[in-house]
Amino acid sequence: MADYLKQTKPLERIGIVSLIIVILSFIFLFSVKTSAYSVYIDGQEKFAVRHYSDISQVIEQVKNQEEDKCNRKLELSNEVTWDKNFVDKKSVLSQDQIAAELQKSLNFVTLGVEIQVEGKAIACLENMEAAEQLLKDLKSEYSAAGENEKVVSVSLAEDVDLIEKKVLVNELSAKDKALELIKLGADQPVKYIVKEGDNLWSIARKNDMYVDDIMCINNLENENLQPDQELVLVASKPYINIVTQVEGETIEPIPFETKTEIDKNSSSSVRIKQAGINGEKQVSYVATKVNGVVETKEVKEETVLKKAVDKIIVKGTRVTVASRGGGSGTLDWPVYGPISSYYGSRGGSHTGLDIAAPSGSTIKAVDSGTVTSAGYKGTYGYMITISHGNGMVTRYAHCSAIHVSAGQYVAKGEGIGKVGSTGKSTGPHLHFEILVNGSFRNPLSYLR
Ligand SMILES: [Zn+2]
Repeated sequence: MADYLKQTKPLERIGIVSLIIVILSFIFLFSVKTSAYSVYIDGQEKFAVRHYSDISQVIEQVKNQEEDKCNRKLELSNEVTWDKNFVDKKSVLSQDQIAAELQKSLNFVTLGVEIQVEGKAIACLENMEAAEQLLKDLKSEYSAAGENEKVVSVSLAEDVDLIEKKVLVNELSAKDKALELIKLGADQPVKYIVKEGDNLWSIARKNDMYVDDIMCINNLENENLQPDQELVLVASKPYINIVTQVEGETIEPIPFETKTEIDKNSSSSVRIKQAGINGEKQVSYVATKVNGVVETKEVKEETVLKKAVDKIIVKGTRVTVASRGGGSGTLDWPVYGPISSYYGSRGGSHTGLDIAAPSGSTIKAVDSGTVTSAGYKGTYGYMITISHGNGMVTRYAHCSAIHVSAGQYVAKGEGIGKVGSTGKSTGPHLHFEILVNGSFRNPLSYLR
């Protein structure tokens, strides 16, 4: 070879060497590279296959496996493409390797039904039947009629749409799990720092929660709290609320009237001559309930079953000057019990004083005066309003029973109703308000 090259001219020599290099390069190239198909998933090069027929076969195989697993028809959601290429021999996969690779990278969608509340997706169910059954279950759970009640209508408070759409298989929820989610609603964890004088009950009241729930969420073993302790409060707000209209009948007491007799020889004290006895009436009403809790109640008809017996009080006329017209000047407590929420709490929005007391405890008029209203008032529940003269008015809310009626005169300390939890209230307590010339005042500056 060397001799041969020596005999050739320099130009020919360069040509021959170049040819040898080219041939060697080709031999090397074909030992590491090969002609195959590059496979792209959603535009990204993933691996290579020898025959393009392999890839469609394996996709079908993987899809069948997935369909067997979830027992429903699936559709490939990725775009799989390929082109002929000169690739590294190492990147060409065998059939088994292709299957493993595709299982990792492919996504399959299926036809499901999305539950949308006010246009927002909440959960996805496997079919229309399951979604409709979920709404039926929710309605029947919250629309049970009370005693002597008849359900007139059941509806959803929110705009709820059931929309068929393609979703990933793992986005489907079981019906019971979706129902639970809708009832729990959005969890909005709220942190609370314990203040001096707080107790679990007052914190629960302020946040519309139950003591048991606060203890459970915070893993509390007993009810002792330390100032500056941090508590997590979770306000539950269902995604869908059930509104039920009911018609019902109940027997309610007719509060007795109070008649006043004047005794010129007695001082300005008040004494009872004849005790009042409540009557009874049959009341038919219509009520609106939200998730089973009464929101509004309207009386349609009343039939007297038993008349009330008047209460007669004797009022002396030897009047000593009272500081507040009809009132005596100082106010007695309407009921005794721990204060569960102070005036001005809840960021200043609390317009009264909450006094905890067992349901059925007697509420007393804090001073003498005239009842100006007595009945159901939305979030206040059953409420009594008394005017004491000189612009002073007191209000007693969330009562379980009312023993007075508008226009009636009540003496200081006289029982006017019972403690309850009607209206927006999470436990039995009296919400007590004082207004002077229409402005709220702190009851603790008046009660003695
Ligand atoms: Zn209150």
